[in-house]
Amino acid sequence: MTRCAPAPGRVPRRALLLTCWRALLRSLRGPIVELLRDLRALLWPTACVHCGAPDRDCCAHCLARIRAPAPLLRAELGVPVFARAPYDGALRALLLACKHGGRASAASELGRALRAPLRAALATAGEPRPLIVAAPSSAVQLRQRGFRPVELFVAHAQRGAARRGEPCGEPLRALRAAWGRRGQIGLAPRARAANARLLRVRPGARHRLRGREVVLVDDVLTTGATLRAARDAVESAGARVVAAAVLCLVETRAEPALGSRAAEGWKPPSRVE
Ligand SMILES: [Zn+2]
Repeated sequence: MTRCAPAPGRVPRRALLLTCWRALLRSLRGPIVELLRDLRALLWPTACVHCGAPDRDCCAHCLARIRAPAPLLRAELGVPVFARAPYDGALRALLLACKHGGRASAASELGRALRAPLRAALATAGEPRPLIVAAPSSAVQLRQRGFRPVELFVAHAQRGAARRGEPCGEPLRALRAAWGRRGQIGLAPRARAANARLLRVRPGARHRLRGREVVLVDDVLTTGATLRAARDAVESAGARVVAAAVLCLVETRAEPALGSRAAEGWKPPSRVE
């Protein structure tokens, strides 16, 4: 028995039902997520990481401020560095809560914030899918947190980009923190530069880096010491860094980091329209 083809211009009933079902799920998703968050807040009381409003890790008002459209920031460190926003306000509070407050659930929102600067950085590459290399966590940080923040942000950003059909890169865990490397918080510029240089290429990544274009990713650009050290490391393996993406940029920094490539190409940050 042969099945009749639908008349031209008519939408098959099955496709119509599927479309309606998807639209229904989409419209219900928001209320269901909010309901689950209410239930979670009942069981585990929480407060907004920025303003202290009850029941949400980041309240609707602060989320709206993080998501508000704004021009990207751009700095130059020999290659362009794109940042979502200044290191300030709700975004800074959410990042600190994720990295140091045990709120790993904030990673998806931070990944969402990283999407625009990552897209801008990927657009500078000649390759269709350049490598994305994240700044690594030290072994101590990994043990304390149980996750690698920057890699997690990249994964969320890439998922969001893929859903929207935007260009994606190829994440590669190419760097590791050498013994003795610690977090950069609280270090003076000279100590930051010395600490940042304790980055090494992972043995298994060396052959994959050779001849490839790389976009570096970190969470905050302060003096640029980490990104410079990361660039030196991956370029020593034969790759070429074309750009970098960060979530936040410390706008008040007045001078480049001390170090071998300190002054190379450094310019004050500007806004990208
Ligand atoms: Zn808030």
